Amino acid sequence: ARAACERAHALQPTLNAFITIADDATLAARLTELAGASQASGPLAGIPIAHKDLFCTTEFPTTAASKMLDGYHSPFDATVVTRLKAAGTVTVGKTNLDEFAMGSANAHSYFGPCRNPWATDRVPGGSSGGSAAAVAAGIVPAATGTDTGGSVRQPAAHCGVTGLKPTYGLVSRWGMIAYASSFDQAGVFARTAEDCALLLHTIAGFDPLDSTSAAVDVPDYAAALAAIATDRPLAGWRIGVAQSFLAADGLQPEVRDAVLAAARRYEQLGATLVDIHLPQAELAIPAYYVLAPAEASSNLARYDGVRYGYRTAHYDDLFEMYTRTRAEGFGWEVKRRILMGTYVLSAGYYDAYTRKAQQVRRLITDDYRNAFAACDLILTPVTPTTAWRVGEKSDPVEEYLADVFTIGVNLAGLPAIAHPCGFDGAGLPIGAQLIAPHFGEAKLLAAVHAYQ
Ligand code: GLN
Repeated sequence: ARAACERAHALQPTLNAFITIADDATLAARLTELAGASQASGPLAGIPIAHKDLFCTTEFPTTAASKMLDGYHSPFDATVVTRLKAAGTVTVGKTNLDEFAMGSANAHSYFGPCRNPWATDRVPGGSSGGSAAAVAAGIVPAATGTDTGGSVRQPAAHCGVTGLKPTYGLVSRWGMIAYASSFDQAGVFARTAEDCALLLHTIAGFDPLDSTSAAVDVPDYAAALAAIATDRPLAGWRIGVAQSFLAADGLQPEVRDAVLAAARRYEQLGATLVDIHLPQAELAIPAYYVLAPAEASSNLARYDGVRYGYRTAHYDDLFEMYTRTRAEGFGWEVKRRILMGTYVLSAGYYDAYTRKAQQVRRLITDDYRNAFAACDLILTPVTPTTAWRVGEKSDPVEEYLADVFTIGVNLAGLPAIAHPCGFDGAGLPIGAQLIAPHFGEAKLLAAVHAYQ
């Protein structure tokens, strides 16, 4: 844990992967606590990890990478944090992200952009860019993230690590700062599916503090991995491939080739490839970018200068205090989402945009259900291209389009995993995505474990 902290400090000027790194006193206090605790055994005892700074923590400030939470210190831990602490992990710090998790490049952070360890002129992906970069740079073996539209899988792909986005409801959202509540789901980054399995087993399961938490049994994912056959472990499994995804406009040929190579490797492991169709897939981005901002505009109404963090220094009356606090506290991307969300929720536009997008959400969910009648898992690219240069995408819509392969999964609440499957000509990592039916995490992890 001390070495992890030292490495986090040493790489901070180059990567900016952290917003807060544990100081000596915090680390010493945690190590002393652990030494005397019953949690001092078990697979995660003493393991250094990092939390995306969207999870509330009592040990560290929580910022959501926003000026708006300046000075905020949570009086409680997120359930994900509580459970990992109970398993004996040591938190070395809170990682950088896009402000309130809105973005695909970790470029919209009040604390400055995070950089990709493979090439520091490149973005690490987002919004959980700091967590992906921290694992890729060998600072920590594992980190938490959140995935509302791809924020675990996309940075995992850009940084060459494994990232799991569980089924909506499998992991508690308690203490995870809300962006779009019907999409938000906590996830994990690690080098391997095996490590992801250990983490998921620790954080998954019913939590009465989250009203959308699913009351399902949590299998021992790591034990399931240990049990898979060594010879043709995926015999009898059908993996669906949507040709339309591989023929998509703007898909970098090297990404397509690497995903096709991953498909062949799954075949060698015993799986059968089947063609599937996801006819409404192209509507995923427009539907998401109506619904997620709508939910965000409501969730972010709580930042009023009274209850949390930042308050403007200059105001004459209450109304001015609210408006100036929000004008000064939120960054441009967050303001854009609040404006879009408020617009699509307003009388006269609700039916044209929000209701329509909800109907599309249902159609997309049905697409996946129909596809899973013919296959066990679906294989797709994670991102259309490898990591772009910091500052390269200045048009927000261009950035939104980078989510084309990840967002449908969130609209349908499905679990999905991103794993490394190759490199482009510039040496940047490429990821493949496997998607499973609801609560199919054990299969996702087993398939990637077999692949790795
Ligand atoms: N890029 C998407 C967005 O900006 C997804 C972000 C996320 O998953 N938190 O909304």
